[in-house]
Amino acid sequence: MTDPFDDGLDDSYFQDVQLEFEEEKKDLTDSKIKLPVPETFPFPFPPYDIQVGFMKNVYECLENRGIGIFESPTGTGKSLSIACSALKWLIDNEERQKKDLDNLLSDNNEEESGGDWIKQHEIKKKKEDDAYELKKIIENRETLDARLKDLKKTLKEALELRKKTDKLDQEFRQIYKDQNVPDFKKMNENFEPLDNDDNDEDNLLVDDYDSDENDKKGNRCSDDENEEDLVTKILYCSRTHTQLSQFVHEVKKTDFSENSRVISLGSRQNFCINPSVRKLESLTLINDRCLELQKNKTKKKSSETPPKKRRKSEKIEKSCPYNKKENIRFYKDRALIEIQDIEDLTQQGKSIKACPYYGLRAAIPDAQLICLPYNTLLHKPTREKSGIKLKGNIVIIDEAHNLFETISSVYSVQIFGSQLIQAHSQLQQYHDKYRSRLKAKNLLYIKQLITILSCLIKALGGKAGINADSQSVGIDSRLETLNDFLFKNQLDHMNFFKIKKYCENSQISRKLHGFIENSLNEDENDKSENTKGVTSFLKTISKPKVTKNDIEENENLSVEEKQLKRSSPLMIIESFIETLTTADVDGRILISKQNLLSKSWIKFVLLNPALYIKDILEEARAVIVAGGTMQPFSEFKDRLFYAAGATSNRIIEYTCDHVIPPENIHPMALARGAGGIQLDFSYDSRRNFQILDELGKVVCNVCNIVPAGVVLFFPSYDFERIVTNRWNETDIIKKIEIKKRIFREPQKSSMVEKTLNEYKTCIDKNYRNFTGVNGAIIFSVVGGKLSEGINFSDNLGRCVIMIGLPYPNKKSVELQEKMNYLNQNMPKSSDGRLPGQVLYENLCMKAVNQSIGRAIRHKNDYASILLLDHRYLRPSIKSKLPKWIAKELKEHEKFGPAFASLNNFFREKSKLKSY
Ligand code: SF4
Repeated sequence: MTDPFDDGLDDSYFQDVQLEFEEEKKDLTDSKIKLPVPETFPFPFPPYDIQVGFMKNVYECLENRGIGIFESPTGTGKSLSIACSALKWLIDNEERQKKDLDNLLSDNNEEESGGDWIKQHEIKKKKEDDAYELKKIIENRETLDARLKDLKKTLKEALELRKKTDKLDQEFRQIYKDQNVPDFKKMNENFEPLDNDDNDEDNLLVDDYDSDENDKKGNRCSDDENEEDLVTKILYCSRTHTQLSQFVHEVKKTDFSENSRVISLGSRQNFCINPSVRKLESLTLINDRCLELQKNKTKKKSSETPPKKRRKSEKIEKSCPYNKKENIRFYKDRALIEIQDIEDLTQQGKSIKACPYYGLRAAIPDAQLICLPYNTLLHKPTREKSGIKLKGNIVIIDEAHNLFETISSVYSVQIFGSQLIQAHSQLQQYHDKYRSRLKAKNLLYIKQLITILSCLIKALGGKAGINADSQSVGIDSRLETLNDFLFKNQLDHMNFFKIKKYCENSQISRKLHGFIENSLNEDENDKSENTKGVTSFLKTISKPKVTKNDIEENENLSVEEKQLKRSSPLMIIESFIETLTTADVDGRILISKQNLLSKSWIKFVLLNPALYIKDILEEARAVIVAGGTMQPFSEFKDRLFYAAGATSNRIIEYTCDHVIPPENIHPMALARGAGGIQLDFSYDSRRNFQILDELGKVVCNVCNIVPAGVVLFFPSYDFERIVTNRWNETDIIKKIEIKKRIFREPQKSSMVEKTLNEYKTCIDKNYRNFTGVNGAIIFSVVGGKLSEGINFSDNLGRCVIMIGLPYPNKKSVELQEKMNYLNQNMPKSSDGRLPGQVLYENLCMKAVNQSIGRAIRHKNDYASILLLDHRYLRPSIKSKLPKWIAKELKEHEKFGPAFASLNNFFREKSKLKSY
């Protein structure tokens, strides 16, 4: 549960900005004026009918405060349609606010006659209050618009000047300064060099902790629900920063780009421009260091004492030179007047020496469209710390096909035995060193944390104080309810709410991290002295030996996993403690012993993701979840929206066709192979060599007639290995190689790009060179490195073959528990199936849909999709395919007619010029 905006500490500038702008916003959802759905939308080119339909439905959903599930296949201009419809609604809504104000003011001038005068007075008072609030919003907007318009004009003039002279910066800044902003040049001269002397032990002590009731003074983002932005916003989130940047580029193409205030948010890891902090690489370490620098802003500097010889009692100023109030303000305005992606925003921060991370956060109150990563929206503490308010705003979650899994993973926490041992040892050393200087309450909580860590180590069968790599704990896996887990491990008497609060307020994990760093630095600085005691011990637990295996393992880890590995161990344990406050029914604890304690782990598994979408559905004016393959919609409705308390009248479903003509797609479900053997790739038949040989013949035949690239998806790595071994034995591989060069999905993520480049080069080089080989085939695995986010457009994927149905492993205890949870807490489906079974089938079909959606990426593209398994002919399976594929699906019991129709499809396409 990584928290990229994890501040905890006060940032005075940000507070100023919040206070300045975050006055109460009037929620205008009670406006009497209803916005009609427009017939046309500003669009950069004449839109297709399906795009107009999509935009109309988005607009209607936003206006009616709906919860929309929108499906629009890749290549249909989904992002552009979202941008145009949502921004159109936003502008219309702002116009409506003006009309509302006029109506209220004219209403107030009319004398009410007759009736109950007390009631009349109340009505009049309410109208006056509403008018006051509206006036404030509109005036704020107009002032902001006027100011930014002037700045924009100035910037434009300055940019033109730049062509003639390189004095641009001074001139623009001079004009900017004239608008009441302090002298920028002077500000830059005031930068102080970063002082890296971090030896002040007082900084490492947790502050006195006297109260469990009060939040620490200065916690930047209060939970004050009354504080709202004055500007109605669209909060657009997507899975990756690349996808967010693509969306920003789409917005730039629209008519709204001139006058819209659009910003992108990210973590300090994305935006930090301080080289000495940035080089720390790990998100946690960057956060820690940045916050330390801010904290030190307020401390006094001794100008006489050389850095290395300062007395301990003297405080040192160590602040980030990029976090100066005036620079941040300048940066904020620049960001608001020009739409930029993450790369541009970072570059701009460097050029004006202002931190983009804080500059963009300062811009939040004035922004109309905020692009943010999933985690920032879905993880409530992160959302709140970053200053994102939901009330009255529009939330759009794009690429939402895996929303359940995303929410579950955002709130699930896994801790390894090595982390527990490390955190326990560090905290024990910290406690021993500072025992005499810590107040009673601090000592009490630190001891409680040490006890919790000991209990968790014991739960994994280990012992605290001994290297995790040398402890053997056997192999075992079990799942427990939260209450059972706490009771069995003698943790049931702990108040985890209070402990969690203590961790937040005392920032114990940061102090501990500083303590460790300090100890290691001392050791580095004093090489002549023998490393003994604390330093020596900490060194062994903090810097484990890195083996060749570790390096290879590390290469295969996702970014999040790598971050987790490098994170401060107590910080992860804090996240775990937070999960222990979840209601017993909504989560489980999975304990997995993997022989060595260091590799064993405890994981909190969230069973009910609806818990964490509830706030979003309740507070936001409207919510849209959108994606290329969103089927089955029922899963979103039943497991997420209804489970979070949404009513059916708010839910809107919309799916649109592909922009490609029907003749450009050729999906087929095939039940039997060339020899008439049934294609059954269910788990029990996967080692049936007769079926594998039959499959081989089908693939050979496909390779003979399909030009360029073929993408072959296996349901699992294990099955891919079995099939390729068999095909090697039976010469099927050799037969395929006569027509296509074979590529296999690489084991290491770092090799994906290289493999894809070679695959592409092979297709480009061999395509129609009449040497026999006609392109390439790539063996991939569903859910693997090539099944999401990789684009097999045009010649890269003229045919996608899906072998079997990739059901998840039913023996997984985690999956079994999720299925049990649904069976116990959710109603049966309309056709009488248990909800756990529905989940199981949906997981499979979502994976199929993602994989087959890799081909056909734009309106002129064409491809065939071959679903190999007799089960694809079942209506229950067919109904879960994307509609634009399902409606063209040809079902073939026999191979002959299927092969003929495939042949026919490519013969027709060969007549095209682009063929
Ligand atoms: S550049 Fe920004 S994120 Fe980096 S240390 Fe400075 S204030 Fe923190």
